[in-house]
Amino acid sequence: MERILTQFSSRLAERHARTVIGLILVAAAVLSFFSLARADELSEKVWIHGSANCAENRDPPIETFQFEPDTYILRQNKCANFEGPFIYLMFGEHTLFIQDTGATADPEQFPLYETVRQLMRQRGAEKLKILVTHSHSHGDHVAADAQFRGKPGATLVEPTATAVREHFGFTSWPDGEATIDLGGRTLTVLPAPGHQDEALVVYDDRTRWLLTGDSVYPGRLYVRDWAAFRVSVRRMATFANTHPVAAVMGTHIELARDGTQYAAGTTYQPNEASLVLTPRDLEDLDRLLQQAGAEPKQIATRRFIVWPK
Ligand SMILES: [Zn+2]
Ligand SMILES: [Zn+2]
Repeated sequence: MERILTQFSSRLAERHARTVIGLILVAAAVLSFFSLARADELSEKVWIHGSANCAENRDPPIETFQFEPDTYILRQNKCANFEGPFIYLMFGEHTLFIQDTGATADPEQFPLYETVRQLMRQRGAEKLKILVTHSHSHGDHVAADAQFRGKPGATLVEPTATAVREHFGFTSWPDGEATIDLGGRTLTVLPAPGHQDEALVVYDDRTRWLLTGDSVYPGRLYVRDWAAFRVSVRRMATFANTHPVAAVMGTHIELARDGTQYAAGTTYQPNEASLVLTPRDLEDLDRLLQQAGAEPKQIATRRFIVWPK
């Protein structure tokens, strides 16, 4: 009797184990299907893109796109500011990371802090710490910094060379890398001067996104320091070669789907190109910059235009 019972319970345990493994496989398949589906949705996403007549624009000042439960991309309305920059939000267990604060300071016209607080409230995560850093210090990415300065739980890394180097512990800029622990989620930060001296690149181990700021995006890549830019692009391409990178995303779109440029300063961009670039684009950019050599020159492709300033 005892033997029968033992056999029965071991068969039961085996069946149970098979069921659990089966469920895990199904869950993994659903999750990867979900993230692939979301990746497609992100690639194809049509963002708010201004209006031919901004007086008639009824879009919100900030569009919020939730990519996965803990990750959001915000886009500023181009009718509020033609730059229409993108802002990235990543929630960890104890810290919310925010890259950039957009192109408009006024909280009435551009309620960035309030938008963030609302997301935190919806998630029951009001107690989370907030860390604001910048892709770089140009005015269209730091304008709403004041909305975060001095707010409870918020740390704003000021967009100056000294503050950035001190906060991340970069002692031999632009060499080295830093990490940010959000709680169950780690970001890697790499110096990337060239477009601007304080430019940073951020890699997220959850989404596997490489956030490239104004250094690499579908548009005019304005290069102020040619030599530094070549080194930075090589660093990004090497990073993407040695880490799993699902998407390379910057902070603007300035090209249409067919690769044509919108006029600089336009407030209306129908048929925008995808925000998402790939490691392949970084490889191409790196190769073209190496071929171009030490002398700055314009390089136009359908995916980006290198534009020495
Ligand atoms: Zn810039
Ligand atoms: Zn910019």
